[in-house]
Amino acid sequence: MFWQKLVIVLLIFFSILLYRTYVVFKPDKDIFKPCSSSIDNHSLNFDHQRLKTFQTLLQFQTISYDEHNQNFDEIKKCRDFIRKHYHGLTKEYSKFVQVHSIAEYSLLYSIQGKNSKLKPFLLSAHMDVVPAGNLEHWKYPPFDGYSDEEFVYARGTLDDKGNLFTMMEAVKEYLNVYGQPSRTFYVALTHNEEVSLSGAAGIAHYLSKQPFGHNGQFEFILDEGTIILEDAFPTLKNPLAMIGVAEKGCVTIEYRIDIAPGHSSMPSAPTAIGILARGVDKLESTPQPSQFGRGPEMGVFLGVTPYLSFPLRLAMSNMWLFSPVIQWVLSRKPATDAMQRTTTAVTHISGGEKDNILPTSASATVNHRLHPADSCQKILKFNRQTINDDRLVAHVKQCDEPSPISPHGKNIHSYRILEQTIRQTFIQDSEPIIVVPALMLGGTDSKSYTNLTKNIYRFSPFIYRHEDLSRLHGDNERIKHTDMQRGLNFYFHLILNNQLEHIPDTTLRSEI
Ligand SMILES: [Zn+2]
Repeated sequence: MFWQKLVIVLLIFFSILLYRTYVVFKPDKDIFKPCSSSIDNHSLNFDHQRLKTFQTLLQFQTISYDEHNQNFDEIKKCRDFIRKHYHGLTKEYSKFVQVHSIAEYSLLYSIQGKNSKLKPFLLSAHMDVVPAGNLEHWKYPPFDGYSDEEFVYARGTLDDKGNLFTMMEAVKEYLNVYGQPSRTFYVALTHNEEVSLSGAAGIAHYLSKQPFGHNGQFEFILDEGTIILEDAFPTLKNPLAMIGVAEKGCVTIEYRIDIAPGHSSMPSAPTAIGILARGVDKLESTPQPSQFGRGPEMGVFLGVTPYLSFPLRLAMSNMWLFSPVIQWVLSRKPATDAMQRTTTAVTHISGGEKDNILPTSASATVNHRLHPADSCQKILKFNRQTINDDRLVAHVKQCDEPSPISPHGKNIHSYRILEQTIRQTFIQDSEPIIVVPALMLGGTDSKSYTNLTKNIYRFSPFIYRHEDLSRLHGDNERIKHTDMQRGLNFYFHLILNNQLEHIPDTTLRSEI
């Protein structure tokens, strides 16, 4: 009797697993249909002339070291080059195209649409770059813009001059082909995204004062962000486009201890340095709790599940059972672990003055990147319990809460247009592209734009493999010629598709 019951229970159990795997999470073939709302087949080429202009942009050493230390001469030259190169836009289309200088070095292009009832949108990119690091690690000098048959190598190719250039070229092409658009849009080119947000904050302030007649609200904002991964999951053959619908926050905390001085010949252990070191060790060895399933990272897992192979597909279709296993797998790699929790990095430590004097104080700085389900207060509380030593006093140096999660899904017009434009411009010979909402791990200018709209998306239309991720802010940053070509067509069709007031119903029914 017992065995009979057990067999029945097991049968029901496995039926539930298989039902979820093959029925609830079945692939939706319709999602691979190309964008049917597009109103043309225009195509742009990353030709020799565009390559040369892009190389010139890369040769400006627009380095941001810190907030007060930027290579302003080069940033100014870069800004002047952009203004000059796109001078034709403001000259030829002066009735509806203008350029504004903001925070001295940032630029804002405004392209006035014919229909003032349509909400405007904003495209954003930045012209500054992080330092190149150790030059000996670079295959080609980081500011030459060297190009071979396949790649262009330089600091800033991926972050963020590739976006900046393809965006501006698409605007130029759009105006040359279609003239004045229906919908007003703006292009923000900031100069200090890597170290400060005063360029973006200035642009946000300027735009919030404009009389749009829609409570100052934008249809959407698109900034640099999450990318297209080619080998995103084991057994997944499709490239995976991730639209960042939220970005992590950042809290920097200094832990400090002050105690009475003493001579090193009669030490009373532990010293200030010893106490601090123990606290730091506890923080490093106790990860913040996993927030798996409580943020937009879940969109990635739900989106790819139907396209994985057994048994991974079975596990991902049944998170109610396998969630702890998936969390463990994610925790094995820093890049995937960062998706599910707030990260902890001890970035600075100091203490002691002389070889024979006991230190009276010691301090360490800890930088956390906040998952959207966490907050600065929550992290402070968790750390206090982890350290469990009142002698270490916390001082919050900086607190940027995680961004709100932008609306996404089939009922959000701007998200759907973005999603369709990605599919439209990334039709490949091999496997079709999957588009999912995701969490952006780094910070962007878009933090400054939250007063303009709820619909903030972060996406860079370039294909990466896992090994390319380390090139961002790392050595040998490079971009493929084919990615530049896709970038041109992505931005062109994004502008074009956003001239539609509504997505045609036929498209709505045939897609996700
Ligand atoms: Zn960037």
